Amino acid sequence: MNGFESILSQDQPIQTLTRFLQKGKIPHALLFTGIDGVGKRLTALAFAMACNCVGIRSDPLPHAENSPRENGCSHEDNAVATGPCGVCSACNKIRSKNHPDLLIVEPSGAMIKIRQMRDLFRTLALKPYEARVRVVIITESHTMNPAAANALLKVLEEPPDRTVLILTARQTSDLLPTIVSRCRHIRFNPISQQHIRLLLEKRHGIDSDHAEILSTMANGSFTRALSMSRSNWINHRKWLISAGGLDAPEMLSKRPKSLLLAYSEKLAKNKELILDSLDMISVWFRDLVVWKYKPENIINKDLTEKIQYASQKNTVDDLLNKIKAVEQAKRDIQANLNLRLSLDVLMMRLAKGNVLQRPHSVDPEMR
Ligand SMILES: [Zn+2]
Repeated sequence: MNGFESILSQDQPIQTLTRFLQKGKIPHALLFTGIDGVGKRLTALAFAMACNCVGIRSDPLPHAENSPRENGCSHEDNAVATGPCGVCSACNKIRSKNHPDLLIVEPSGAMIKIRQMRDLFRTLALKPYEARVRVVIITESHTMNPAAANALLKVLEEPPDRTVLILTARQTSDLLPTIVSRCRHIRFNPISQQHIRLLLEKRHGIDSDHAEILSTMANGSFTRALSMSRSNWINHRKWLISAGGLDAPEMLSKRPKSLLLAYSEKLAKNKELILDSLDMISVWFRDLVVWKYKPENIINKDLTEKIQYASQKNTVDDLLNKIKAVEQAKRDIQANLNLRLSLDVLMMRLAKGNVLQRPHSVDPEMR
């Protein structure tokens, strides 16, 4: 179906869009902002379906040419009561992206270029072929180069008839203020952990323990949860914990320095996964603290035995210091400090500060 019902945790945006449909007044330009993987693009497609669905009402095309420009496209004669039916010919064409009046502009390489905008404007100069409302979706609009952004601004100043432009971006500050001010801004929230877990379980057949871990690690982005599930994240986590000696943090101070640094070297090789890996390590230490107070609240539920064992062997202060060290490493890496060096420093910090460590028992290699 892929109508509004398929979009989770976005009640506010859906309500706003439904109100436009019910009133039959659709703004000429919408701006959807929010982190990656929260359903901005899916919502834009569902909205395009709702604007053009012939399954709900099969009225003739609206008289948008006569509509007052300042109020957006007027479709009062043809107000849509609910979301799209998801099965009519218009809905099907839009879902499969085969509708002649659905135009999608995506970054070509790293950015949206002026050439792509010129192609778009040539099409916009013509009337829509068959749509009640032609829909242009410009994804990741913050990647427009300055020439493309200025060209878009001209279109926003004189919007074409029976057309709605939907821009998606992470945040308004990534765009020209003059573009933002010409769009109706709709903010998308991170998806709730519970909804991500449900989606992973029900739509992707992931077992509940793993879905629980992935949904917690995803920070509100379903795309992130899914990409972690595909990148064999659970095995990667096992490696992170065992190869790093994190299942016995109290012994880290006795680990040869060469082993600690070999681990940070391997971590550094997986550059694109590094922040996720550090998140995972942080969550692991957090679980060891949480176990002491509310064991039912740990995240790595499939590793209960290991957590129980390690939690008993380490003090809260030691574990909190380790969490601080991991968070500092994350900040250093985000600030573009040398990756390998940041990880080496992290490993040295993780190996330090155990209450159980005696001052004179340091491994010769650690001196
Ligand atoms: Zn339909």
